[in-house]
Amino acid sequence: MTRDDPLFRAAGQIHRRLNRYTLCQVDAYLCAAGRLMDVQLLTGLAWRRIEKARRHGWHLAAHALRAELSTAVRSLQAEVGRFLAVGDIQARETPPPPTLRSIVEELAQLRAEFEHVEIRAKQRSDGAAARATAAGMVVVARTEAIELEGVALGPFAIGLHVTRLDSRVDSDCFNCVALDPNPASANEEVTHPHVQSNSLCAGDASAAITQALRQGRINDAFCLVRSVLQTYNPHSPYVALDAWSGSPCPDCGRSVGSESLYYCEACGNDYCDDCIGSCDLCDQSACSGCLERDPMSGQRCCPGCRHTCDHCHRVVDADSFDEATGLCPECAPEPDEQEQQKEDDDNDVTDPQLQPLISENNDHEQPQPGSEPQPDAEPDPQPTPMPIALPFEPAPA
Ligand SMILES: [Zn+2]
Ligand SMILES: [Zn+2]
Ligand SMILES: [Zn+2]
Ligand SMILES: [Zn+2]
Repeated sequence: MTRDDPLFRAAGQIHRRLNRYTLCQVDAYLCAAGRLMDVQLLTGLAWRRIEKARRHGWHLAAHALRAELSTAVRSLQAEVGRFLAVGDIQARETPPPPTLRSIVEELAQLRAEFEHVEIRAKQRSDGAAARATAAGMVVVARTEAIELEGVALGPFAIGLHVTRLDSRVDSDCFNCVALDPNPASANEEVTHPHVQSNSLCAGDASAAITQALRQGRINDAFCLVRSVLQTYNPHSPYVALDAWSGSPCPDCGRSVGSESLYYCEACGNDYCDDCIGSCDLCDQSACSGCLERDPMSGQRCCPGCRHTCDHCHRVVDADSFDEATGLCPECAPEPDEQEQQKEDDDNDVTDPQLQPLISENNDHEQPQPGSEPQPDAEPDPQPTPMPIALPFEPAPA
């Protein structure tokens, strides 16, 4: 690989950024060490004050200062713990920063591992020849065509965006672009069960990808990304493979294969098994939007099997609805009540005055203002005792 090779320039850019990252990590180590030294100083100070008090024979003061020393020692102990923890993380996660030579070797290895590797750079706006400036540098490796569980997803271009290494060193530095996209029918942005809007959800592989990048194992990181693309994890897909070419349910939007869609006889659309139901009266399948429940009978009814009560305007299932009156069972007069009334009418022909009273028992008939029996007009066959009792009333007073 010559120095003119764009891969070599890319190696330089990657090397510089990974080194900067490693130096930031070292800062955490130095900060912890600094805090440790501060607390150590405080501990020494507390000890010297006790010594001074003892020298002057201020034994009471020397005794009181012990609390101060104990506090300082406890802080020291805590800082020692923190320092060692940072040191451990350093030892585990940040080995010596990768050398330029090792990055060049990694990129050369990448060329051996992938059939097609290229360095892409943004065209300069002044029209000058495209140069691999750091601003837009992307190391791109192309995968073979990927097929998962019979779904052809085409080849992908895995791109390492070099400048992203400035702010983070993890799987988000990569993107994955479908070169012959076969996106999920429910979402054009999902070109792979684990890729949405060109960004990869690396799942369990995230930690390993991060680790490889931080250690400058660029080729390993690419291979890990490729293996995520070549593996289907049914637990965390953006769109599941069995619903890849399915249609979205018009109710909940979930993408489902055609074999899992159910037709609503009422509105003529196809719904998923969660959103389809059936009419309790005629058994026809209907979507939840087309079914309404009769609140009294509890029956779910399709549009053909329900009515609205003319009086209380509630949904009434067709079995309970009184077609003749257009009323629900609660609003329609009971048949036996009607008959009872008829019988009473027949028996009481001799006493026409009672008729308005009986018809009043039917709550649903509009009361006729004229027929309302007036207290004065009421027949009074038995004289009330009131007028007789009156003369005795003042007696207790
Ligand atoms: Zn649905
Ligand atoms: Zn429907
Ligand atoms: Zn029905
Ligand atoms: Zn009603």
